[in-house]
Amino acid sequence: MGSLGNFLEMDAAGMATGPKYECLLFDMDDTLYPMSTGLNLACRRNIEEFMLHQLHIEETEVPRMCLDLYREYGTTMAGLKVLGYEFDDDEFHAFVHGRLPYEKLRPDPVLRNLLLSMPQRKIIFTNADKAHAAEVLKRLGLEDCFEGVICFETLNPPLEAANYLDALDNDAILARGEPEQDDFDVGSEILRPKSQILCKPAVEAIELAIRIANVDPKKTIFFDDSTRNIASGKAAGLHTVIVGSSVLVPGAGADYALSSIHNIKEAIPEIWEAEGEQKEPVIQSNTVQSAVLA
Ligand SMILES: [Mg+2]
Repeated sequence: MGSLGNFLEMDAAGMATGPKYECLLFDMDDTLYPMSTGLNLACRRNIEEFMLHQLHIEETEVPRMCLDLYREYGTTMAGLKVLGYEFDDDEFHAFVHGRLPYEKLRPDPVLRNLLLSMPQRKIIFTNADKAHAAEVLKRLGLEDCFEGVICFETLNPPLEAANYLDALDNDAILARGEPEQDDFDVGSEILRPKSQILCKPAVEAIELAIRIANVDPKKTIFFDDSTRNIASGKAAGLHTVIVGSSVLVPGAGADYALSSIHNIKEAIPEIWEAEGEQKEPVIQSNTVQSAVLA
């Protein structure tokens, strides 16, 4: 940890203390741009269409089921898998995101300047797939503001890895963890049953993101528009900011509330306070960066 030495400060008692915050973890959809763009609504309509036409779910059931599964499992897709529906992850993402009105997202130079002026590491942590994340960041003009993106593919690696798991001795695999454990560490890969998707608000998903990003949760701020994700973020030990809400709901786990991400400097000036001491990039590591980029 020799590289840390550059960034340690001494407090009054002579004890080594680091900067207050070292990393900022951002949800993307409805966090970096407002819900009012209509992307969220368009996305939900596409998911409903997929449920109706690809999964042949009863039309009257679709809207309620779509919302219930989203609330229960973090994404409707994750919920559909738990219910036993079988479909290809990439096909689902192409259907749901491929036809979104991305033109409604405009470059946001104000947010861009804010992000670039923050001295901390900045990482996207989204349940969406890599292609959607890349498109949104490009449209917002923010594609070079982040060290990396932790997305669907990062937390749910391709199933070739799982097929490799199937080829291994089954007893040896079961011996790796508790019988009810969903994920298996094989080298740097996380393997999962085909029916399970790892995503926010599962605390395990947040803990895995923390490990992949190699951050100290106590020195990391997590921004998200979902109260459930924020509650899980808090449970994982992160500092938390609910975005798109001007009030802190007691007990919801948010340390700060921002009606818009644009208000970040007024709400959390501490992010910039360490700027003088942190001109150098914090703990650059190629291995971390390549792991973060899904
Ligand atoms: Mg969101």
